[in-house]
Amino acid sequence: MRKKLRKKLSFSYMFIIVICVLIISLLSNFFLQRLFRNYVIEQHKTRNNLIVKTIGEQYLFNGNWNIDGIKNIGEISIENGLFISVKDISGKIIWDAETYNIKKCEEVKNKVTNSMEKYFPSWEGVYTKNQYPLINNSSKIGTIEIGYYGPFFYGSNDISYIKTLNKMLLLVGVFSLLIAFIFGFLMAERLSRPILKVIDAAEMISRGNYDEKIETKTDIEEIHNLTTTINNLGTSLNGQEKLRKRLTKDISHELRTPLSTLQSHMEALIDGVWEPTSDRLKSCHEEILRLKRLVGDLEKLARYEGENLSLVITKFNLGEVINNIALNFEKQFLNKKVALAFKEDSIFVNADKDKITQVIVNLVSNALKYTEKGGKVEVNLWEEGQFAIVNVKDTGIGISNENIPHVFERFYRADESRNKQTGGSGIGLAIAKSIIKAHKGIITVESKINEGTNFTVKIPK
Ligand code: ATP
Ligand code: MG
Repeated sequence: MRKKLRKKLSFSYMFIIVICVLIISLLSNFFLQRLFRNYVIEQHKTRNNLIVKTIGEQYLFNGNWNIDGIKNIGEISIENGLFISVKDISGKIIWDAETYNIKKCEEVKNKVTNSMEKYFPSWEGVYTKNQYPLINNSSKIGTIEIGYYGPFFYGSNDISYIKTLNKMLLLVGVFSLLIAFIFGFLMAERLSRPILKVIDAAEMISRGNYDEKIETKTDIEEIHNLTTTINNLGTSLNGQEKLRKRLTKDISHELRTPLSTLQSHMEALIDGVWEPTSDRLKSCHEEILRLKRLVGDLEKLARYEGENLSLVITKFNLGEVINNIALNFEKQFLNKKVALAFKEDSIFVNADKDKITQVIVNLVSNALKYTEKGGKVEVNLWEEGQFAIVNVKDTGIGISNENIPHVFERFYRADESRNKQTGGSGIGLAIAKSIIKAHKGIITVESKINEGTNFTVKIPK
């Protein structure tokens, strides 16, 4: 059966405290009682010695005794549960508690046994008599016999002291329980409140409400981590959701243009407004090619972007890669009458060769695409600490300041009308950025409109 955290914690606290209080009470009770008993036994001894001494002092001279003095001591002793019997040197009884007042003696004895048996059922007191010699001026003058319940008994003061002690222990126990209950409840509140908030937030997130943020100030590390994780989850789901929406919008936007062109062309042909000349058919064919390319691009995007970009790391010569790319582009550069310059170098990197090649191809093809006849494209390669740097610089049309921050976004093309002829989809740089990011590298751009563009890629070696 599942229990609520608050309940569970409160009960756990209570349980622990009950056990602690019980153990402490039992132990303290046991030790205090023992200490007290020893103290009482010691006390008895001292009292007996005192009686022996003061009775000894009641001897006057020549066998005479201060009987009144002995009587006074004897009476007080009876009250204290001690019954004395004084004999002189010849063995003659001078004063005896029981002879003096047997009724009082019995009364006191009964009182002692009753109260002891009542409060201490395990008490095994036996009436014992101890004999002591009476000494005066270092000579024996008689004997005294002190009878009492041994090894110990408690007087009414002692019993009320023990009662108070027990009451106090009980009070401390009840008080600790109360504190434990309050503390446990507060602690459980403190723990469960942020957790309940996290549950609420997680529920909101599961319903698609990603903006829900948990605001709790807690000094509990785990709860703090839990809330930050849930908040981060919300943020990242929010990002993903936005991305998904934008991607769908971008894709449908990209698909709509060639599809509507095709649709209007076809309708004109069907209605006989247009003759199906080879030029018209070619234009339709071009739109179909555009669509096909777009689908291919989307495929590429799915492959290179996002979490599923896995790298195959090998050690290769980046200079050689650039050399090969330049050779492959040679013809296209010649056709467009754009100069291509690059320095032969040999720098080895540990990276995914195919994907890095793809990045450089994208940059070089952009440079060629956006550079007019007579312009120049330069590819440079150098090392900087732990990084290999590839730089693709052109003297082309450049990118305006407001477009620069967006060129790495998918389907982004700086100037729609201008790019119509160049026919790109605007994903080349998005792919390049994903690849470089996966390599933990950096790609940056500097550009001036009508002057040229400069792309720099920093790859960890
Ligand atoms: P694709 O590469 O998908 O065929 P694309 O070249 O248009 O299409 P990207 O490579 O992502 O797309 O580039 C995005 C935009 O950035 C381009 O449309 C262009 O406007 C601008 N751009 C990129 N490189 C350059 C450059 N070297 N000079 C001027 N503008 C550039
Ligand atoms: Mg491109």
